[in-house]
Amino acid sequence: MTDTRTLWIRNPLACADSDAAGGVVIQGTRLLEKVAAGAQPRQAVDDTFDASRHVLLPGLVNTHHHFYQTLTRAYSPALNKELFPWLTTLYDVWANLDEAQLALASELAMVELLMSGCTTVADHHYVFSGALRDAIDCQVETARRLGVRASLTRGSMSLGQDDGGLPPQSVVQDERTILDDSQRLVERYHQRGDGAMTTIALAPCSPFSVSRELMQESARLAESHDVRLHTHLAETEDETDYCQRLFGMRPLDYLAECGWLSNRTWLAHGIHFNDDEILRLGRAGTGIAHCPSSNMVLGSGMCRTLELEAAGAPVGLAVDGSASNDHSNLANEMRQALLLGRLRYSPGEVTHQAVIRWATRGSARCLGRDDIGGLEPGQQADLALFRLDEPRFSGAENPLAALLLCGAHRADRVMVAGRWRVTDGKPCDVDLDSLMARHDQAARRLRSTL
Ligand SMILES: [Zn+2]
Repeated sequence: MTDTRTLWIRNPLACADSDAAGGVVIQGTRLLEKVAAGAQPRQAVDDTFDASRHVLLPGLVNTHHHFYQTLTRAYSPALNKELFPWLTTLYDVWANLDEAQLALASELAMVELLMSGCTTVADHHYVFSGALRDAIDCQVETARRLGVRASLTRGSMSLGQDDGGLPPQSVVQDERTILDDSQRLVERYHQRGDGAMTTIALAPCSPFSVSRELMQESARLAESHDVRLHTHLAETEDETDYCQRLFGMRPLDYLAECGWLSNRTWLAHGIHFNDDEILRLGRAGTGIAHCPSSNMVLGSGMCRTLELEAAGAPVGLAVDGSASNDHSNLANEMRQALLLGRLRYSPGEVTHQAVIRWATRGSARCLGRDDIGGLEPGQQADLALFRLDEPRFSGAENPLAALLLCGAHRADRVMVAGRWRVTDGKPCDVDLDSLMARHDQAARRLRSTL
């Protein structure tokens, strides 16, 4: 579609935005108009897409992942463990990751996300070993080829076991190397403003794998280049104990001391915060990427989503890495968030609409964006359309609620910046069978290096 042609996604079966019950009109890469139920677009359109069998959502936004971990899914030695022993089991495998493996892992994960209705993907890649230096460059290339919007973060680990950290020395880099490469990536790839397809953020891995100096210097670099900051925080009680022991303070105090408690930052997990810390996060506008499946698999705990939102902190959704989830399906993750949320809050508070909000607008806010995550005119034409034509949906009365309650896991159509990237449930321009075969081979090769 050229920049001036218009397309009406007409009369969806249901829509997440009640003002767009008659669908949306797209022009080029953007949304032009919401159409009310039973109404016609204000101007004649060039094309129409009959959405009468589709549930229409803004494209889902994933706020945290580790694409490379698709190579170590359901890995026997790491099963049934909590975070720290799980990590120490896997570090030695991940240390042997090479660029060809990462390229396949990134493509597979992005395709899996796209197929689940996700139009913007965030990845946190922090493993840079001998054979893998240009990991982010490789991911940028893959995201561009697939036509998916990507927030790629230059992750890092600088605190190895020799210095009291958790990871082995083989996967840590020195601070100068990390900061220089971070600057290079921002200058080379980071796009600004509405419609950015590739953004770069800085992402030291966690308090137990990164030096204090790197946290502070990353915050300074992010501010001077006006890019975002991302890290894991408050995921487990072990991490809280580690921070008390090593820094003499709780994780959030450490974060604040390093200059990170701001609206430039979004945090993965954000589970073990007390009441006062939640208020501080809300005042600062720091975002939280809620990762329900991962938190359940590792037994880490439960994010206090509603208190964080009420305090003013953006709350988004994320599948997290595929060694702790182990799928990359954001539609499925919405169901997980709904069910987990109802263990803490009342069903009337954690509604399907609230969870859809986390996976769209909330996630977009975590990434610092207001041009995606909704169906407002002027926003990017990022859409996810689901059909309810599987046995699991048969007999459902409320199509929007059915997505979560019946367990939607595969979008029929996905549009990114006005371009269809999934049609009839299949990713465009991707040979899925070949990709899976090559990815599985790469996983076997990686496991065999141990
Ligand atoms: Zn993670």
